[in-house]
Amino acid sequence: MTDVITIDGPAGSGKSTVSRLLAKKINCLYLDTGAMYRAVALAASRKGISFSDGKRLGELCRSLELYFTTDADPPRLFLGKEDISVPIRTPDMDMLSSEVSAVKEVREAMMELQRKMARGISIVAEGRDMGTVVFPEARHKFFLTASPEVRAERRYKEMVGRGESVSKEIVEAKLRKRDHQDKTRLLAPLKPATSAKLIDSTKLTPDEIVRDILKDLKKRNA
Ligand code: C5P
Repeated sequence: MTDVITIDGPAGSGKSTVSRLLAKKINCLYLDTGAMYRAVALAASRKGISFSDGKRLGELCRSLELYFTTDADPPRLFLGKEDISVPIRTPDMDMLSSEVSAVKEVREAMMELQRKMARGISIVAEGRDMGTVVFPEARHKFFLTASPEVRAERRYKEMVGRGESVSKEIVEAKLRKRDHQDKTRLLAPLKPATSAKLIDSTKLTPDEIVRDILKDLKKRNA
């Protein structure tokens, strides 16, 4: 049986870890759609394409050879032959991916690609608009939240863990800015789908959240 589980939420809400763990537990493919927008931002910046040039961005998106490997955990993202998993995770790409994702032609191309990637298989799809726009027919939708302070703290620890030298204040300011951009854009803004179950991850570990989701899925399938 093919099924789509959508997990949306803001940066630092824990959705990547949770989606990855859940996909592993139930033997589904994990689709990290944020990584795809990051790849567009990286490719467009390298080619010097202006983010106001929707036509060229749309062409770029349709020409990208993007694919995830399924043998690594977390999955790695390739652009052609290049593994871009590391360069898409810089602070610059945090902000540029948010900017480029507001462009209509980019969203249309990415939505098409995401639906194509999900065709005929069971997936856990993670992003901002999975439950609202890309997979509105999904039977199981979740929306993760957490206080901005906790989300910034998580993001800060992640960056320090990668050896980056950053200040907590700057991480929080940028996270709030990105939240604002993602929530207020005209197309596919960040918001819970009407039927999504809201989970506040502020005081929960990823394992606890996955347990909650699995319980919920069991109940719904009973
Ligand atoms: O999830 P992640 O932080 O990697 O996403 C990077 C950016 O990509 C987000 O800030 C958001 O603007 C955009 N995005 C989106 N729709 C998605 C996933 C991510 O607009 N489904």
